[in-house]
Amino acid sequence: MALMRIACVGAGPGGLFFAILATRIPGVTDVTVYEQAAEGAPRGWGVVFWPDLMDQVEAVDPPFAEALRTFRYTWRDQVVEVDGSEARFTASGFAMGRHLMQKLLVDRAREVGVRIEFDRRIGRLAELEGYDLVVAADGVRSGLREQAPGVRTEVTEGRNRYIWLGTEKQFSSFTFPFVHSPGGWLWAHAYAFGEAGSTFIVETTEETWRALGLDTLGPDETLRLLESVFADQLDGHKLVLQEDARETAPWRRFATVRNSSWTDGPLALVGDAAHTTHFSVGSGTRLALEDAIALARHLEQAPTVAAALAGYGTERAEALEVTAGQARSSAAWFEAVPQYVERPVRDFARLLIERRRLVARRAPGLYLALHRLTTVPVLGALVNHGLAAGRAIAPRVIGPLRRRLSR
Ligand SMILES: Cc1cc2nc3c(=O)[nH]c(=O)nc-3n(C[C@H](O)[C@H](O)[C@H](O)COP(=O)(O)OP(=O)(O)OC[C@H]3O[C@@H](n4cnc5c(N)ncnc54)[C@H](O)[C@@H]3O)c2cc1C
Repeated sequence: MALMRIACVGAGPGGLFFAILATRIPGVTDVTVYEQAAEGAPRGWGVVFWPDLMDQVEAVDPPFAEALRTFRYTWRDQVVEVDGSEARFTASGFAMGRHLMQKLLVDRAREVGVRIEFDRRIGRLAELEGYDLVVAADGVRSGLREQAPGVRTEVTEGRNRYIWLGTEKQFSSFTFPFVHSPGGWLWAHAYAFGEAGSTFIVETTEETWRALGLDTLGPDETLRLLESVFADQLDGHKLVLQEDARETAPWRRFATVRNSSWTDGPLALVGDAAHTTHFSVGSGTRLALEDAIALARHLEQAPTVAAALAGYGTERAEALEVTAGQARSSAAWFEAVPQYVERPVRDFARLLIERRRLVARRAPGLYLALHRLTTVPVLGALVNHGLAAGRAIAPRVIGPLRRRLSR
């Protein structure tokens, strides 16, 4: 394969992990990562990930898997709190600060010979002439994607508002506090990512956001107001904005990115540049790393770069369907919180935990009735069997159908 020089734009998990794996592709002589930010610049708070990701990383790069194992934080249980009442579910998962994850990836990349240029923004694709492959790992607002008409990007924004904050309070369980305010309900997605602190994403509906005047408040006033709303959960700890966001209070609507093709000529999209899935399913980092693994594998195995890119795009678009469907259900569930939140806390919490399932979102009463049946021994086995069969079949039917309809 005539592949000698590779450029990756973006030193997030997608770009860096691909660069690490690319150094092993036969014939590759130069892998360079271009990152617009300075080395060590703040990258926001922590992200969660799951044991299946550890297995996938272990299979392709044991030293990075070992670094993740050494520094990851393990949170235990999921807790749903509604105005002081609580429901707890057994669960566990991992988390890590985005800054630390980038440092581990940068160290590993340098170890295997990747050249990394920080403080180097790539404005135009033409700047990368001379490379045999350009990997656009430049995130959700990818500028390279816009210069590749063949990928045909679609961006849709959710209705809710969210703000990504941190706090020194340690949420050792993944906690969803729902609090009623004079303007309506607000809630948080809170989890520790190390000894230093926790991610604390506050989310609310557009109506509540406006009713509380959050559309008009500056950063300090926003933080003080949210600290008073979540005073019981924060135990006196402060909420903190990301360092690069101190001038404004960056409330956002979640942007879901889709591309009808993930490649265009010698350009391949990886990670958030290719797709985003709502933050409430905690999958963006896993998907970015999986993209990197798949792209490197296709480049190692296919006879030409064009064949590798075609194989990569098809494989990953199909693999994304299940998570993308779950993310749509999850985002829609959070947009409908006011419909469910007055239910008894145990029922409400059960719906929250099961929000990725369509029946839990579209027909909560039916779902809860079915769920109660699962607690009766024989009926439970039958209901679970039916639900499992439905879950196994649904992605195989819905994914191809959706692709056919979108053509
Ligand atoms: C509120 C919120 C919570 C989240 N929580 C989780 C979670 O719990 N678990 C999880 O797995 N995921 C989570 N995610 C998603 C996750 O952060 C992303 O999916 C992941 O970082 C994507 O990695 P990436 O490498 O594709 O892009 P990024 O990490 O965004 O990296 C892109 C890089 O490209 C650089 N760049 C951009 N343009 C240029 C340019 N022109 N030239 C040079 N460099 C450039 C940027 O500076 C950046 O460093 C969350 C996202 C949000 C918004």
